[in-house]
Amino acid sequence: MNKIDIDTIFKERPLIISGPCSIESKEQIYEISAQLSALGIKFLRGGAFKPRTSPSTFQGIGSEGIRFMREAADRYGMFVVTEVLDSVQLEEHYNEIDVIQIGSRNMASYGLLKTIGKKTAADKKPILLKRGFSSTINELLLAAEYIINEGNPNVWLCLRGIRTFEQIDSIFRFTPDLASIIELKQKTDLPVIFDPSHAVGDSKFVIQIAKAALALGADGLLIESHIDPENAFTDGNQCVLPEDISLI
Ligand code: PEP
Ligand code: MN
Repeated sequence: MNKIDIDTIFKERPLIISGPCSIESKEQIYEISAQLSALGIKFLRGGAFKPRTSPSTFQGIGSEGIRFMREAADRYGMFVVTEVLDSVQLEEHYNEIDVIQIGSRNMASYGLLKTIGKKTAADKKPILLKRGFSSTINELLLAAEYIINEGNPNVWLCLRGIRTFEQIDSIFRFTPDLASIIELKQKTDLPVIFDPSHAVGDSKFVIQIAKAALALGADGLLIESHIDPENAFTDGNQCVLPEDISLI
């Protein structure tokens, strides 16, 4: 796969990043890659190391998962987007990853942000930085600065819903922070990606919210998809079928 052309990639709006919450098997990631690439989607995402709330739940299949995803991405001409939780995983898998995801729970892990910033300073590999679900917009922008100050300006900001009092009785997993798209567009030139999947937590509403995000000026979308959402290991409730993405 060629290197990501940073200067032109966001001209093809919207940039769509999609794939399963977790890589489950070689067959699963190959099948979804085939379906997504047939739709013209170039950014394949899948979690190999999952930041789960409970340590007793499925944690991802780890290194083997990244290998399966890299092979599938190469087979179908796609880029690999995946999260690393620490500097050991970063070192071990650096060459297999095209876009490094920093998850919501790690947005304020300043040591990790600096380490990733330093590591990517030479090749300026894109970083997908997800908003902490209890973080303000300025905290998100300052987290991005931690990376940028180490020498890599290619930070993609990802809004993914925030936790508010609405979660007491809302049908949504988080409160979709759609208006923050407008605010980020006022405050920064960094690309803004919206993740409707984690924001609402229910596949029934993902496409509607994705359209709203684009209407508000998002540069791209991160959408969880699965070939068999009902049997997904993680986040099945919010995964759409690849074909649903063509409704956006
Ligand atoms: C994910 O992208 O699967 C994920 C764990 O997201 P977040 O860090 O936004 O919760
Ligand atoms: Mn997920």
